[in-house]
Order: sequence, then C-alpha cells, then structure tokens
Amino acid sequence: MPDSGELSCLLCGMRAVGEVLSESVRDDRTGRHQVMRCNVCGHIQLFPLPDEEADRSFYDGDRQARNLIPDFDFEVWRLKCQEDTGRRLGWLEQVRPAPARVLDIGSGYGFFVDAAASAGYEAAGLDLSAERVALARANLRGEFLCGLVDETFVEGRRGRFDAVTLFHVLEHVPEPVAFLNRCKALLNPGGRLLIEVPNAADALLWECTPYRDFYWQRAHLSYFDSARLELALRRAGCGTVKVEGVQRYGLRNLLNWVDSGRPQLEAPADKAPSPLLAEIDALYRRYREQTSRSDTLIVEMPL
Ligand SMILES: [Zn+2]
Repeated sequence: MPDSGELSCLLCGMRAVGEVLSESVRDDRTGRHQVMRCNVCGHIQLFPLPDEEADRSFYDGDRQARNLIPDFDFEVWRLKCQEDTGRRLGWLEQVRPAPARVLDIGSGYGFFVDAAASAGYEAAGLDLSAERVALARANLRGEFLCGLVDETFVEGRRGRFDAVTLFHVLEHVPEPVAFLNRCKALLNPGGRLLIEVPNAADALLWECTPYRDFYWQRAHLSYFDSARLELALRRAGCGTVKVEGVQRYGLRNLLNWVDSGRPQLEAPADKAPSPLLAEIDALYRRYREQTSRSDTLIVEMPL
C-alpha cells in the first residue's frame, strides 16, 4: 500500500499529492477508504469519498451510532448527550437570546432542538436520517425535517433564521465551503452561525495509537484543526473568526484510553466524580483548551 497518493482536496480544491495517515477506517474494513492529508493546505480527509447514494443509505440506516453501540437506546443516549446539550444551549442563549428562530442542521436525535424549544426558541431541526427524525418527532418538542441543505431547501427559507447551528456536522459534508455558503444564506442580516467540530489537533489523537485507530471513521469526510477551520470559513467569505477549544471528554476518558486502549462505552465517563477528581478534571480540560489541543473546536460568525 502506498504512503502517498493523489487526492482532490475538499478544502483548497487542489488536485494534490496526499500523505496517507491511515490505510483504513474503523467501520469500513474493506480497505476502500483511507485517511489522507493534503500536501498543499494540510487538510485531513477521507479518500476516496463515498458517493451520494452510499452516504444517504449510510445515514438512513442510522449506522454511525449503530456501528458503535449495537443495542442503542434513545433515553440512555439522551442522558449521555445532556452535558453537551446544556453547554450548547448556554452558548446559543449568550449569542442570540430567546425568542428567536433557530435551525439546527444535522439535528440527529433532536435533543438540542428539544432543549431550545423548551427554552422559548422557535426551534427546528434538519437531519438526513429518516429514522432519527421519526424518533425525534415522536418524542421531542420542536419541528423536525428530513433532508439536506441543498439549493431547494435554501430557496424556501432564505434569510429566515436568527441562528443556525452546526454541531459535529461540517466534518460529514462533501463540500464544506459550498455548504457553509448555503448555511449563511439561511440567516437573516443579524443572524449568527454557531459551529462545533472535533479537533484534528486533539492531543490524544496524536499521542495514543489505539485512540487514533478508533478515531478515523467512515462518516467523517474531513478532520479540521483550528487553522483549517479558519481557512474553510475564510473561503466561504466569513471574514475573521475566533476559533476556541472545548474539551468535552474528561480525565477519566484519557486514563481509560491510556490504560485499556479501548473506548469506554458501557460506564458513563462522567459518573459522580469526587471533589478531588473534579478539581483536577477541570484543570485538565482548561489546559487542553488553552493549548488548542482539546478534543473539540467551536466558532461563531460573525463575531
Ligand atoms: Zn488542500
């Protein structure tokens, strides 16, 4: 297998030589997909990309969660997402207080939309997975739509929203710059775009081989670090932005990976911490965020 090859970069648009970072991804052992880094702009991406039809059936079948957790349970997942949901709602409330119209793109099971609707927002979610949308409609508050942010979707809703949120979505889309442009078109003149992505400069990713083998996955087409996220936003005409780090996973997760080399899926990583551990955990998270080596990046635009 070669350690370099030619790729079409999702970010800079160049046909370039790419360095192969991984010859396979965890949930596609056919060896069809590799992970490559563009030698022109440094962007990391899946190569070759799946075609649109393969992607649709992947999400329709709800495979991203199922590949990881075969006996998936809606209520257990809701609890697992509680910390993220609360943090994201707090961020939205700071940027754009209710009442306001918010669209969550890639709404998944819809927990954020439900929380926003309960906090006084006119909240809608859009997701490609018919199964996730059906579950959200049956169980949660807010409006849930199934589909893509294509030209037809944008035309019907141009300038309609005060805020558009993209939580762990940008890494899934085949044309991130064009996608960001369509998201911008959904905003009204004072509207804000809130983006959260995994950080490709995550310390654990580069310092723990089992984690790295687990990290590369079929669903992620792009892996952004803060420079590449800024580049995507600049190319989409978003001007100057300030990318910030967020450390979602705590010290217990780090220790688990270092000690066992496996994901901690059974026991919640955040189970009732002792005050002693909570103090160290907070320091650990802050350190990762301040050194830009956190597991997650967030950015809002315009500033
Ligand atoms: Zn590139």
